[in-house]
Amino acid sequence: MRYTKKEIETIENAHIVSELPDKISEINNLEEIHDVPIPDHIKDSVEQKELNHRDFDDSHFWQKIPYFKDVGYDEFLDVKFQNQNSVTKVAHLDELLEGLVDADFLIDVHQGMAEAPMNIRISPYILSLINWDDPYNDPLRIQFIPVASTRRKDHPRLTLDSLAEQDDSPVSGLVHRYFDKALFLPLDVCPVYCRFCTRSYAIGSDTDLVTKLSFKPVPKKWHGAFAYLASRPEIEDVVVSGGDTYMLIPERVRQIGEMLLSIPHIRRIRFATKGPAVMPMKILSDKEWTRALIDVVEMGRKKDKDVVLHTHFNSANEITKITKDAMNHLFEHGVTVRNQSVLIRGVNDTPEDMVHLVRKLSYINVQPYYVYQHDMVKGTEELRTRISDTVELERYVRGVTAGFNTPLFVTDAPGGGGKRDVHSYDYYDELTGISIYRSPSIDKEKVFLYFDPIDLLPEEGRKLWADEKNHDELIESALKKSGYGQLSPAL
Ligand SMILES: *Cc1c(COP(=O)(O)O)cnc(C)c1O
Ligand code: SF4
Repeated sequence: MRYTKKEIETIENAHIVSELPDKISEINNLEEIHDVPIPDHIKDSVEQKELNHRDFDDSHFWQKIPYFKDVGYDEFLDVKFQNQNSVTKVAHLDELLEGLVDADFLIDVHQGMAEAPMNIRISPYILSLINWDDPYNDPLRIQFIPVASTRRKDHPRLTLDSLAEQDDSPVSGLVHRYFDKALFLPLDVCPVYCRFCTRSYAIGSDTDLVTKLSFKPVPKKWHGAFAYLASRPEIEDVVVSGGDTYMLIPERVRQIGEMLLSIPHIRRIRFATKGPAVMPMKILSDKEWTRALIDVVEMGRKKDKDVVLHTHFNSANEITKITKDAMNHLFEHGVTVRNQSVLIRGVNDTPEDMVHLVRKLSYINVQPYYVYQHDMVKGTEELRTRISDTVELERYVRGVTAGFNTPLFVTDAPGGGGKRDVHSYDYYDELTGISIYRSPSIDKEKVFLYFDPIDLLPEEGRKLWADEKNHDELIESALKKSGYGQLSPAL
């Protein structure tokens, strides 16, 4: 057998490579390879702005708000300062923003509040990160401060408890929908109130529009939930949500952690909090709270159980140097942090914004886990996107970074179908905006419908929805066309 010249070259090169390890083993820092010629590039060089997810604002950005102009770094970092200065009344917002925004904007906010399902609560941190020169287009303003002028008429199928959590609740403050996992809702308050909250039926205090169910953080009330969890051997996974774990005092974090870890069949616990996105300094300055969390994580590890933090960043604008320091602190102490975003029109619905967010989170060791299709909650029509928009976004995001940092885009199927891959619908009509999902592991007999926001439908579709008499027929026809007409719709 004879080798060709090319093959001999290849073998000789292979020989050289096989000798390299010896030499390489002596090389353990960049300096020692300074004289190695740089191999030819096969990719265009990148522009600096493609790497700007690595920039973190470390300025005293809050000082541009007149109210906070004398607040130093240490004071701003203090969680007490953040809590004491959180805005919970529109009148307070008027005061804070005087001179920063047009009077018309504030009138718009007052009118928006009158029709909102959620009350207002904003930390100084978030307030200072909003671009008050252009509040209408700011992704943080859109999430936390309603204005009347951008309101859209609700889709007729929007509800307050669109996920039908109350139907799957065996005891107050617990939702058991999936086979082996349960959602524990120990309280009904959060460090901020998001306009788009899935639990508008419970979270925050009553508004003009909604009288809320109450999950007060009364440990006695939790006993029923613990007893239920202990009585169901199939439950391995508990999400502690709310409300928001940030609002539990350290003893309660510890108590819940120890209680859940003591139930033998529970193997995984997730503490859910929006906190890192809206008040990251708590992790750095509320040392007892952070210690309690880390202790529960360590306690879990000793029992071979997984305890992690799930958070909720929606926009890269929420992430500063303070966030990075806070996430580094958790990472150094072995706390895994994952992120669940909600896809919101004007906040994170362009490929640029979503890719930027995914990269920025990955950079600070926060793993992008889910991006939720916006739930069909009353009062949020203008914030929703079409299923087709979300699927297109998903195409852009998949492939930009590591697979384990690539979020799953899911629809939490209205009516209690649970989370479905957004693109896994059995039927979708872009004209009527109706999509149909099945969820056999939850309920084989049902189909679950999602409805695109009407204002984004083609004109013909908008016309079809304009007349209430058409609605039932639109849905029936979709069911028939989907081939699942024999199953019953959940809504
Ligand atoms: C989202 C959710 C869970 C957790 O689901 P994962 O897909 O594992 O994140 C558990 N219970 C309920 C009711 C939920 O809505
Ligand atoms: S932090 Fe979560 S639970 Fe609280 S208002 Fe926002 S979305 Fe709702």
